[in-house]
Amino acid sequence: HARGTERVHKNVWLEFARLAADYKAVNLGQGFPDFSPPEFVQDAFCKAVSGGHQMHQYTRPFGHPPLVHILAKFFGRIVGREIDPLEDVLVTVGAYQALFCAFQALIEEGDEVIIVEPFFDCYQPMVKKAGGKPVYVPLRPVSGDGSAVPSSGDWVLSPEELASKFTPRTKAVVINTPNNPLGKVYKTEELQVIADLCIKHDVLCISDEVYEWLTYDGNKHVKIAGLPGMWERTVTIGSAGKTFSATGWKVGWAIGSEQIIQRLKAMHQMSVFDCATAAQEAVARGFEREYELFGTPESYFQQLPAMLHQKREKLASCLGGAGLQPVMPEGGYFMIADTSSVTVDFSDFMSTDDEPHDFRFVKWLIKEKGLATIPVSAFYSPEHRKDFDKYIRFCFIKEDSTLDAADDILRTFS
Ligand code: PMP
Ligand code: GLN
Repeated sequence: HARGTERVHKNVWLEFARLAADYKAVNLGQGFPDFSPPEFVQDAFCKAVSGGHQMHQYTRPFGHPPLVHILAKFFGRIVGREIDPLEDVLVTVGAYQALFCAFQALIEEGDEVIIVEPFFDCYQPMVKKAGGKPVYVPLRPVSGDGSAVPSSGDWVLSPEELASKFTPRTKAVVINTPNNPLGKVYKTEELQVIADLCIKHDVLCISDEVYEWLTYDGNKHVKIAGLPGMWERTVTIGSAGKTFSATGWKVGWAIGSEQIIQRLKAMHQMSVFDCATAAQEAVARGFEREYELFGTPESYFQQLPAMLHQKREKLASCLGGAGLQPVMPEGGYFMIADTSSVTVDFSDFMSTDDEPHDFRFVKWLIKEKGLATIPVSAFYSPEHRKDFDKYIRFCFIKEDSTLDAADDILRTFS
């Protein structure tokens, strides 16, 4: 077998999506909206498929021209620099393929890749498949004075611990802001610490920013690519699935300097070659609309976080009532909660003795209570899994009726 091909059955998404379906559970597990994308992108998609014959044929392999143009214009305005649509942007099959291309293109045998924990689970197998060695550094909760509600902002990187992970073999650092599953939105000062180390050690940064529009309580998403000296060494990854609540369209992108992106293009050419045309057309129209409305109340990038803010409050109060202390996310659409104060007899649910606590808890919650979530230790390396196995992750980009159904279940806890 080729390296990495033996492990597909262990995937947390396959395992828990399946359990959720088998038990017809209320699903706050895998992250996707249970409602439709906004009308303007749906209309754009319909218009694309009912339009000319070109929309049904291949488009430019590295990205449909209208899409790469508006992405370059949009992100150029944000980072305050000229972005070349044809050289600095690559459209991919979701952010997932952008990540895969980045690791395959940039990581060589024996390279070390620093991954901040908790991390979106695919980084680890992708780094390994490329021949790299993942090196983990966890965000750690600093305890407040106990009076405030725990927040994802309390979870921080120790600059010394991070610095200690760099070696002459370090090739890249992977960050994810807003973070999945925690919801942490890195502040400029935190990004500056990472940027300084990347520059000092001449290391690349792969920045997964798929939840970039979703921030709450005045927290602002900052692009590390916009910090001095970082454009040349950063790949910024985004997702139309998250941007326009259309995860099934599987449109994503990587943006960076021409020198880096051309290497990702080589991987894209080998693996996929060309992405679906109509979906790219619709996403382009969506961004064109958002470009004009940016910062106004009509912008979906204002409306979606406003709607999600309410859902976040609703879920947090349900969880609090059930004794599952939530960590308030500053961004994204997930919330982690501490299961420690809920005592359960797992004797019937123990699939293996060494299964982490949160995996058992989630299985129990699905099978006995009909509520699906995701165990947070799935977002940790084997070496740190045991230290972070008391949290479970809830997705809140769901209809209020779905959150109410979850609330009904959680009410039976107290
Ligand atoms: N990165 C993170 C942090 C994610 O949560 C997701 C969601 N699947 C992805 C990447 C992949 O995004 P996409 O659905 O666009 O492939
Ligand atoms: N990003 C979504 C989540 O974290 C979906 C994950 C996936 O489908 N691999 O739930």
